[in-house]
Amino acid sequence: MDQPTVTDVIVPPMVDPFHDWRDGDTWLAGGTLLFSAPMPHLRRLRDLSQTGWPSLTVSAAGLEIAATCGITELHEFKPPDHWRAGPFLRQSVEEYLASFKVWNRQTVGGNICASLPAGPMVMMGAALDAEYKILALDKSSRLVPAIDFVTGDNTNILQPGELLRSIHLPLSALLRRYTLRRFALTKHGRSSIYLVGTRDTESNEILITVSAATIHPVHLRFNGAPSSEDVRVALDRLIPDDLYFDDPNGTPAHRRHLTYVFAEQIRTELSAS
Ligand SMILES: Cc1cc2nc3c(=O)[nH]c(=O)nc-3n(C[C@H](O)[C@H](O)[C@H](O)COP(=O)(O)OP(=O)(O)OC[C@H]3O[C@@H](n4cnc5c(N)ncnc54)[C@H](O)[C@@H]3O)c2cc1C
Repeated sequence: MDQPTVTDVIVPPMVDPFHDWRDGDTWLAGGTLLFSAPMPHLRRLRDLSQTGWPSLTVSAAGLEIAATCGITELHEFKPPDHWRAGPFLRQSVEEYLASFKVWNRQTVGGNICASLPAGPMVMMGAALDAEYKILALDKSSRLVPAIDFVTGDNTNILQPGELLRSIHLPLSALLRRYTLRRFALTKHGRSSIYLVGTRDTESNEILITVSAATIHPVHLRFNGAPSSEDVRVALDRLIPDDLYFDDPNGTPAHRRHLTYVFAEQIRTELSAS
């Protein structure tokens, strides 16, 4: 849809992406969320499509994903064979409910910054213990654990003008075994409950990440294989009732119920050697 209050679309200089920042400015990535609903506060869009940031960089430390990396680029990426969690990257992209147009335009960073409970890139970052690099208007930068980035339905820790630059997936997370469980009302529907478990094959740490069921992702981390009781107690403690999301895709009670079922299935699967 049109955004009639927008008067300009500018391409900021990459030596100083914040140059001439004004009230009403917003970063434009794929634009699929920005052009999907009225946003009368918008005045100018700062187009990120010309940054030239390399989309995907493999190194000994893991994988660096530019915020501007297209979803389709991540889908086509061939991870090294020894990354046990490598196939999860492609699977994450396939969890999108998206039309042809949205699929081909949206970016990894745009999905993370949209910060919706069903955000597949939000889950990917949280489940793989990612670190996000954020650039600020005063030209400082900071690194933030993915699990701390999203704070609620469509809210996150970004301050006005802040720019998500990149997503770092550490090698240690990419080497972990993983499994996932997801529920949606229809086969290709938006996720209403989505859990991913990973296990470090050396330390045996198990990490279960809950998303879509809750308004922001939640980590359950265990040193070694937990019992059913350990998982239940952690869920009771870390997810109060008001953290479960309520929308037409599912009631909080339904989401809570399946979260416990899926967490137990993941525990059983990852505990087996
Ligand atoms: C038909 C349809 C289906 C959808 N299905 C899903 C779904 O299944 N799951 C889901 O999670 N979402 C879904 N969405 C919403 C979805 O989150 C976005 O459409 C998409 O992921 C946003 O990516 P984008 O690159 O187009 O971002 P944009 O629309 O360009 O930007 C989204 C927001 O993030 C900000 N932003 C973008 N990049 C940065 C950056 N690098 N730094 C700081 N801020 C930034 C923008 O200013 C804007 O506020 C759907 C939307 C549509 C229209």
